[in-house]
Amino acid sequence: MSLRSAKHWVFDMDGTLTLAVHDFEAIKRALEIPLEDDILGHLAALPEAVAAAKHAWLLEHERELALAAEPAPGAIELVRELHGRGCRLGILTRNAHELALLTLRAIGLDDCFAVADVIGRDEAPPKPDPGGLLHLASTWQVVPSELVMVGDYRFDLECARAAGARSVLVNLEENPWPELADHFAVDCRALHQLL
Ligand SMILES: [Mg+2]
Repeated sequence: MSLRSAKHWVFDMDGTLTLAVHDFEAIKRALEIPLEDDILGHLAALPEAVAAAKHAWLLEHERELALAAEPAPGAIELVRELHGRGCRLGILTRNAHELALLTLRAIGLDDCFAVADVIGRDEAPPKPDPGGLLHLASTWQVVPSELVMVGDYRFDLECARAAGARSVLVNLEENPWPELADHFAVDCRALHQLL
């Protein structure tokens, strides 16, 4: 199946549909997380009260980023085109569900996604776990190989691979993970041109 005929698309949010603004090193410093650790993984291993306080800080920090979100080059046109073609569209993000909705509203794409198809870190295990993609495939009643996962990081690609979905890497000048990406486009505008 060519990308052109794909009808079920799942997007990462931060750095894929929006310009990347998360300063993960600053977040880790603020939350006293070792730089080499994964933020969500680190928080999951902490005692409950400490984890709750740090999650609350993270949510507040990310809320400010969501309100100020700006679309990545070509993202609006790409999503609108797919929506106009009648494709099912989902979001799979390590951000929180409500902040993903806030972000979609900030960039003016909230009408293209069903609220239940915006999967955040509380609705599915975080990428690269394939749970979120498998959930969407089941909701949409298609086999995972019908899904196209678009993202800007290796977790997005590994998630797609583990689910049996196809992967598209965007928003990098070159593809550092050719073994993981089924397709590569420098940005959403270039991906749009492939369709
Ligand atoms: Mg991303």
